[in-house]
Amino acid sequence: MVPITYELIKTDKQTGARLGRVHTPHGSFDTPTFMPVGTLATVKTMSPEELQEMNANIILSNTYHLWLRPGEDIIREAGGLHKFMNWDGAILTDSGGFQVFSLSDMREIVEEGVHFRNHLNGDKLFLSPEKAMQIQNDLGADIMMAFDECPPFPATHEYMKSSVERTARWAERCLEAHGRPDEQGLFGIVQGGEYEDLRKQSANDLISLDFPGYAIGGLSVGEPKDVMNRVLELTTPLLPTDKPRYLMGVGSPDSLIDGAIRGVDMFDCVLPTRIARNGTCMTSTGRLVVRNAKFARDFRPIDENCDCYACRNYSRAYIRHLVKSNETFGFRLTTYHNLHFLLKLMEQVRAAIREDRLGDFKEEFFEQYGFNKPDAKNF
Ligand SMILES: [Zn+2]
Repeated sequence: MVPITYELIKTDKQTGARLGRVHTPHGSFDTPTFMPVGTLATVKTMSPEELQEMNANIILSNTYHLWLRPGEDIIREAGGLHKFMNWDGAILTDSGGFQVFSLSDMREIVEEGVHFRNHLNGDKLFLSPEKAMQIQNDLGADIMMAFDECPPFPATHEYMKSSVERTARWAERCLEAHGRPDEQGLFGIVQGGEYEDLRKQSANDLISLDFPGYAIGGLSVGEPKDVMNRVLELTTPLLPTDKPRYLMGVGSPDSLIDGAIRGVDMFDCVLPTRIARNGTCMTSTGRLVVRNAKFARDFRPIDENCDCYACRNYSRAYIRHLVKSNETFGFRLTTYHNLHFLLKLMEQVRAAIREDRLGDFKEEFFEQYGFNKPDAKNF
């Protein structure tokens, strides 16, 4: 039995974006969708009940962080990640590769895997395709990611080519080491940076291994937005239409819409939760820094067009006061609002695809959010 399947419902006549549904052992979810990130087996400050309330049905957790603490053995003994954190919906775990390449500066890549230092205490560690699979099998997420190399941007063609080839060999080793293929679906990750020939090579290598889904990696690593859009335009047409596509590490509202238009089904990013803890909110009329003094006597909700728990019950003035006082409840309210905002945005994107008007929706949304202004911020 294949644990992860994808159903293509329709494509948008204006843009070609896909409306679909992904089936997992822990329920189905409609795509395009955004996955809140629960790095340490918790979406910071949110309870699983709150995530359900805002219609999140798949969340992401990080293999690298859970490996270091509490340790995958403890989570396995608890009965797996779903039981450990009391989350009945679907879970996706990454491979740990991205953190190894982004958090640790002392690292050595060899064919066997990567030697690096623990970012918490400096201990020497080693992660390989086999180890990444063993940890993810112990965690028991519905979707797991192959262990890949994520080279920085920019990288030379020569380096990227050798990296893409290693990623393909590692992907094959991941498949061989996968201990629970009937219960957990393993996605391959297409790399290749900004190089068209290497994206093709990487996609072909991985498609020949027949994964139940494919991620597009190596984007949102500091490249300009037009580079990301161009790479998506040349990569998604290479991927099978009957499998889900996941763009890793992307969560700004404009990128979610631009990604969906280019055929992406799944997204994740720490952006909405991270900026929330800094007192910044995403709203239908653009970014709102609730910490700002001008909101001290502003008794309107964060977003007058939002019907989330935070906006129905609390004012900018109150939330500003909580955030300025470092009160946990303030961060809970901004986090709740930001996640609700992105999940609602994806609902609107799906509705627009259903009605063949995603192009028009993008125009309206960008205009209202301020993305069309020359000095527009990324989120
Ligand atoms: Zn709200």
